[in-house]
Amino acid sequence: MTTLPLLDLPAPRRRSARPPQHLADLDPAGRRAAVAALGEKDFRAGQLATHYFGRLVRDPAAMTDIPAAARDRLAAALLPRLLSPVREQTCDGGATRKTLWRLHDGALVESVLMGYPDRATVCVSSQAGCGMACPFCATGQAGLTRNLSTAEIVDQVVWFAGLAARGALPDSPPRGLALGPDQQGSARRGLALGPDQQGSARRLSHVVFMGMGEPLANYARVIDAVRRLTDPAPDGLGLSQRHITVSTVGLVPAMHRLAGENLAMTLALSLHAPDDELRDELVPVNQRWQVDEVLDAAWTYAARTGRRVSIEYAMIRDVNDQPWRADLLGRLLAGRLAHVNLIPLNPTPGSRWDASPKPVEREFVRRLRAAGVPTTVRDTRGREIDGACGQLAAAEVAQ
Ligand code: SAH
Repeated sequence: MTTLPLLDLPAPRRRSARPPQHLADLDPAGRRAAVAALGEKDFRAGQLATHYFGRLVRDPAAMTDIPAAARDRLAAALLPRLLSPVREQTCDGGATRKTLWRLHDGALVESVLMGYPDRATVCVSSQAGCGMACPFCATGQAGLTRNLSTAEIVDQVVWFAGLAARGALPDSPPRGLALGPDQQGSARRGLALGPDQQGSARRLSHVVFMGMGEPLANYARVIDAVRRLTDPAPDGLGLSQRHITVSTVGLVPAMHRLAGENLAMTLALSLHAPDDELRDELVPVNQRWQVDEVLDAAWTYAARTGRRVSIEYAMIRDVNDQPWRADLLGRLLAGRLAHVNLIPLNPTPGSRWDASPKPVEREFVRRLRAAGVPTTVRDTRGREIDGACGQLAAAEVAQ
């Protein structure tokens, strides 16, 4: 009998107190009610939101237009510190920065900021750990600790948006960042950019839910976070819905629900194999929702939103990179509102798997394109600092 560890979305391994409530957990009406409950004038809610979402100010001491006594009360109730940075690493000339956070209960998560010539993207975690158990993913190895709260997700973005606005990203990030082995190990660990490397203010533009966790297994909080990120300032951060990507292993009911949210986000589906036999192994949730069902849900999403679905496919040497699998994938996707994003596998410690050789990858791309399927290969940004896809494994670097 096959084991189905994922049927019921996994319960956290250890129970912990809920994260403290924060401004970013609440919608504007909820914020006004919370402020009123503290005996403060309800316009203070707008002031707090203007600081936090509009000016990216997270430190209550800097909110000097609010009288000190009120500020202390409001900050204690609505601006608790949710994320404490434990370690920061940078690479790619400062254009990639990864932060390891400790949450209120000691759980660890990571997020990554990536500066590109035309945009600045933050890759956020939606859970501490992950219960999906994909064998090639570092996060999947340790299991799920817990869901993040809405504000724990949003605060990762606001923190990096503030950093980018203060010029933390270099002005001309390096292009074509496929690092060769000769460049490995040159990461400047634990360093922030020096004044000489300071760039000019940049607006954080994109958010990808591709850090730790399965976003659709923390559905309500992720959707809430997306609303906070996309509501116009000062109610939210004012990012474009189109610039938000939610990546999933393929939780079919949640994908259908997402299609009905009336949000123009990009959906990324981690397919990794076009056939059930292999996908059962690479993405164990496939034992519950198989390739045809998961692709149907993706096409429903595309039809409802008009958004092209991104099919994620980690290229694993001699595992899923055969020409026949490219052809099968091409047949499944041809004529659909989809494009394929191939990700050179980032081998995780102790893994028996490796990335496909470049000629094999090129042939895979060629066959998909020949089938009429738009295909790109993702850059390997952040590899040196274990900040690339699937490498976030905070538990292993716990201090
Ligand atoms: N749980 C979500 C988000 C996870 S990470 C999901 O699975 O979609 C985002 C992407 O990185 C996913 O496509 C995931 O399969 C991929 N990934 C995980 N580990 C990887 C690795 N070691 N090398 C390359 N890609 C990996």
